Amino acid sequence: MCFTSAMWRRVLLGSSYFDFMTSILVTGGAGYIGCHTVRELARSGYHPISLDNLSEGHREAVLEGDLATGDLSDEALLESIFQDQPVDAVMHFASRCYVRESMENPRLYYEQNVGNALVLLRVMLSHGVKKFILSSTCATYGNPERVPIDETHPQNPINSYGESKLFIERMLKHYDRAYGLRSVSLRYFNAAGASLDAQLGESHHPETHLIPRILKVAKGELEKLQIFGDDYPTHDGSCIRDYIHVLDLASAHIAAYRWLSEGQGSEVFNLGTGQGHSVKQVVTAAGQITEQEIPVEVSPGRAGDPPQLVANPRRANQLLGWWPKYSDLETMISTAWAWEQKRRY
Ligand code: UDP
Repeated sequence: MCFTSAMWRRVLLGSSYFDFMTSILVTGGAGYIGCHTVRELARSGYHPISLDNLSEGHREAVLEGDLATGDLSDEALLESIFQDQPVDAVMHFASRCYVRESMENPRLYYEQNVGNALVLLRVMLSHGVKKFILSSTCATYGNPERVPIDETHPQNPINSYGESKLFIERMLKHYDRAYGLRSVSLRYFNAAGASLDAQLGESHHPETHLIPRILKVAKGELEKLQIFGDDYPTHDGSCIRDYIHVLDLASAHIAAYRWLSEGQGSEVFNLGTGQGHSVKQVVTAAGQITEQEIPVEVSPGRAGDPPQLVANPRRANQLLGWWPKYSDLETMISTAWAWEQKRRY
């Protein structure tokens, strides 16, 4: 099957230019973390091919490379992508990733996250593609027994989202042994922020994440912020998370790809800063940065929310040579605020 122009779009450059570049398939390349990574890949000299069904992603967010629109479960579409040009590696972002939704509708998480990963892995292996980078999550750890959390911490997810990602991580171990598939699973903590030029940022409908919701209050689009629980066993009673700038997540993917290209074996890495911030601290910082008052209301804690998730990122520092550059609270909130004020999509 060939791509029709409706499904397939080349951005900026003619196709012949790409013949000399290494192509990397980016599922979910029109989504929040995917689109920043696509841009970073292009800036690093690679040719990104985004595949996105645009259910959550935005066509306008794909600023570089190719965009194929369609569903990951569409095996014929996947086949045609791998046939069209040599793909050296796959970065797999496309998934459902909402804790609350995963508790209310776990079927989506097993069918879409686990089911689609199975299809993708089958097709890529049948084309001899053996480098795979997975968007995994700190939600695979569940309620931490110790903080900061390193990669050896037991994984006992308390929501179906984390469970679905853990399934894939476990599959990857066996696929490595049996088929020689080399993978890096990147366990993201809490992605935040936007591109420095405010061209790309977070845009979900409806928006459930903390920082964009606070900024919608600052903008006057939401009346107040609900704080989900203030009786957790933390210093101020609200949940603590380790926020990491989306540009730092993007650069970790390039480092992970290079790690695999050097012939290193499969690995898992935490991507966080090692520093946690409570919901109340984030609200205070956002109030100062936006110079707006943020009215809040405390409501019951969300099902499936651990009180505290903070990474020990040392393994990524040491093995990938990766260090967060933009993940101080001020940069994360101010880039997100600039994006929020002039969003393109
Ligand atoms: N949160 C909150 N109010 C909101 C959205 C989120 O209090 O309107 C809290 C949530 O309970 C969690 C933290 O903020 O403790 C980060 O939540 P988010 O949804 O941004 O990311 P998640 O941790 O679910 O991946």
